[in-house]
Amino acid sequence: MGSTTVNGGISFWYAQTGVPPRREPLPGDGSADVCVVGGGYTGLWTAYYLKKAVPFLRITVLEAEFCGYGASGRNGGWLYNGIAGRDRYAGLHGREAAADLQRAMNETVDEVVRVCAEEAIDADIVKGGVLEVAYSPAQLARLRAFHEAEVAFGEKDRVLLSARETAGRIRVARALGGSWTPHGARIHPAKLVRGLADAVEALGVTVHESTPVTEIRPKHVLTPHGTVRAPYVLRCTEGFTAGIKGSKRAWLPMNSSMIATEPLPAEVWEEIGWEGRETLGDMAHAYMYAQRTADDRIALGGRGIPYRFGSRTDNDGRTQDRTVEALREILVRFFPSTASAAIDHAWSGVLGVPRDWCASVDLDRATGLGWAGGYVGSGVATANLAARTLRDLVQQDSGQGGRTELTALPWVGHRVRRWEPEPLRWLGVHGLYAAYRAADRQELAGRADTAPLARVADRISGRH
Ligand SMILES: Cc1cc2nc3c(=O)[nH]c(=O)nc-3n(C[C@H](O)[C@H](O)[C@H](O)COP(=O)(O)OP(=O)(O)OC[C@H]3O[C@@H](n4cnc5c(N)ncnc54)[C@H](O)[C@@H]3O)c2cc1C
Repeated sequence: MGSTTVNGGISFWYAQTGVPPRREPLPGDGSADVCVVGGGYTGLWTAYYLKKAVPFLRITVLEAEFCGYGASGRNGGWLYNGIAGRDRYAGLHGREAAADLQRAMNETVDEVVRVCAEEAIDADIVKGGVLEVAYSPAQLARLRAFHEAEVAFGEKDRVLLSARETAGRIRVARALGGSWTPHGARIHPAKLVRGLADAVEALGVTVHESTPVTEIRPKHVLTPHGTVRAPYVLRCTEGFTAGIKGSKRAWLPMNSSMIATEPLPAEVWEEIGWEGRETLGDMAHAYMYAQRTADDRIALGGRGIPYRFGSRTDNDGRTQDRTVEALREILVRFFPSTASAAIDHAWSGVLGVPRDWCASVDLDRATGLGWAGGYVGSGVATANLAARTLRDLVQQDSGQGGRTELTALPWVGHRVRRWEPEPLRWLGVHGLYAAYRAADRQELAGRADTAPLARVADRISGRH
């Protein structure tokens, strides 16, 4: 790690925009029609759509720190159509149902872009699509299979690219081919979440920050400042869910880490290309994701230390030096012309991983408790679809609406068993990522097919 690298500070995105001033905490006991726990994309979009649909609803959002403190203010800024668990949902509910889910996700990318324009949220959005590249023979085989699968799920506009065509978009060293879809946009995560929080407040939603929820009970939300009573309580805490009493083994908090370079000079961009601002990913088992920022940096992420014992989450996003170094190595392997670029910032955040790696959304009619999450790293767009679905579920339950296209999607009402207790949880996740890293090394060394280690890891982890 360079001596000038800022490590932590929540994320690079806040180094750019500044950390927003905090809203007032909950002043004491109170009541609402809907209480939303967590002020990230899921909670804020849910408040947004509910308030738009039923303007007289009294909605309170309770946020432990400030809106956007979690993954929503730290992510890679891929607003894209991927959803965790689609293939499993195809197995459980049939291909048609899973294709409906995929279609809804494709539309969600445009929905976020639309609302940002309508609410004048400037989040540096460029809809340049998503480019996934392969740089080893085994990755190329997986890329082709992935491409076919996406096309079979209705993405007729996805394009398979040769090595030359891939380089025509982004010159990734040793890239053998790529797959590009238009269903993706580059965003500035913190600008989106901050703009959304302001929009929600302007609509008349009450937002309290510095208000950690300690326990959620049916129709009651407990905090150190007082209790909020509400017929509907919606838990929107994704990677932090393990910190809420009774939910420790629901979703595993998985770390993802990122680095951002200094702004790169024109000569380097001439070398790299990337005029279209596509979000960029690869086909490695421990995959990377990247974007070209509005001020011409590369922000790149991947799995560092994937999981902390006892489902602990971090606080200010500090990242281990060896993770920073590993990400820098990926950067330079992809783009040798960045070898001397300074890494201005490194940070990490947590996302939520369910035992079967399937995102889900639900409202329990008996208790009025709802939740959404478990997006496994594909939460930027999915949170919006989840929020519109929670809106429909609340309206349906309160007799203001019926079944909708969204409430019929196969991820609604999906329940999954809890994670194993420690130390099995820790051993399992560390073993999994050690296996993925070893498989990636074997494939980079020239192995032509997917390393068996990775297949075994997938099977054991419940990932595929
Ligand atoms: C480094 C990183 C990179 C990522 N990159 C991408 C990407 O490029 N594209 C993509 O699609 N997805 C990405 N993800 C995943 C995506 O960011 C998340 O899935 C998504 O932001 C989740 O939104 P959320 O609102 O559900 O959760 P969060 O954004 O985590 O929000 C939860 C909120 O709840 C608050 N909270 C927690 N506990 C309590 C409590 N007890 N009481 C009150 N409030 C509480 C937290 O402070 C937080 O603000 C990434 C994640 C990380 C960490």
